[in-house]
Amino acid sequence: MVTERIKQITAANDALLSFLPIWETHRGRPGIADFAFGNPQEMVVDGFAPALAAATKPLDKDHYAYKFSEEQSRKTVAAHLADWRGQPFDPDDIAMTPGAFGAIAVTLGALVDIGDEVVYFDPSWFFYRSMILAAGAIPIAVPVMEQGYDLDLDRLAGAITEKTRLVIVNTPHNPTGRIYPPATLRGLARVLTEASERFGAPIYLLSDEPYSKLVFSDASFSGPAEHYPHTLISYSYGKILLTPGQRIGWLAWTPQMTDRQSLRSAVFMAQTAGGWLFPSAIMQYSLAELDRLSIDLVELERKRDLLVAELGAAGYELRPPEGTFYLWARSPEPDDVAFVGRLAEQGVLVLPGTTCGAPGHFRISLTGTGEMIERSLPVFRGG
Ligand code: PLP
Repeated sequence: MVTERIKQITAANDALLSFLPIWETHRGRPGIADFAFGNPQEMVVDGFAPALAAATKPLDKDHYAYKFSEEQSRKTVAAHLADWRGQPFDPDDIAMTPGAFGAIAVTLGALVDIGDEVVYFDPSWFFYRSMILAAGAIPIAVPVMEQGYDLDLDRLAGAITEKTRLVIVNTPHNPTGRIYPPATLRGLARVLTEASERFGAPIYLLSDEPYSKLVFSDASFSGPAEHYPHTLISYSYGKILLTPGQRIGWLAWTPQMTDRQSLRSAVFMAQTAGGWLFPSAIMQYSLAELDRLSIDLVELERKRDLLVAELGAAGYELRPPEGTFYLWARSPEPDDVAFVGRLAEQGVLVLPGTTCGAPGHFRISLTGTGEMIERSLPVFRGG
């Protein structure tokens, strides 16, 4: 009694759905080292709960009324973006969303018609495919380069057709931790500009950037919005604060975007018709405070360095991530699901690459504690 669309979506998440029972079985065991997902394994950052608590006190009758993209929230984001990215984003070109999830859904809802094609890169975050299907569009996956995981722009150019409406790029990239360099982003802009001209309509770019604040000290971040005018950016506070259970993020589009006025209305309608895709009142009131907080990036980098060194010495093939809180490595045996199952039996939970569309790999979330890492090292060495 379920819809054909949900059957399709379920099939698209087959690998993830097969992994979840394994995770559920093991994650509560005492002494488990849980690196499967980007979930907190320690108490929330100081300042988070007090900011939310302060915002619960009603100040007027509208305190808990329906909330849109509140002006104060949009101004906070615009000021932050101007400082950080050097582009004067107009507060009216910012929509507040329930995390990057919401921003992606809104983008698809506003820009993509039934039967349009949406291109993304594999390995990928496991929900792009299902969200594209949920929007009635056709997902087209393009593999990244085998060596170095950079975007394969020739393959992208070959995958674009007259039905392509949107391309999704994720930088810093989950799961590989790559940050695409400016030369790649310029090349990406070239491919999209040429294709848009060839087909006589703009191909939109969604730069999904929930990890853009999680950048290691030996790397730097710049995004495609600096190079391609038809770019929208999705962001989530759930990563930098490690609070994915409290939903807030945004969607912003560049000041150079053509037809900004229609995009503003389209996004607003996609938010309402999509099921009120706005963050809650409390999250919006707290935003200015939350904007000042962060998980401990020095500690995150220490964990990255330790795991990169130890796994490298144990013979794992990996490339140190430049951003995100993930480490991506080649599975020592081709069957990543079997490998991950074996590690789980020994008390270490990691994510099989198959869930990200890249069999033969696995992903470690660096949100695990230092203690979990110490406990896991002998298991990885024996892996
Ligand atoms: N995009 C990517 C690449 C992600 O990794 C995630 C979460 O893991 C999201 C979007 C969604 O983020 P959020 O749940 O914070 O909205």
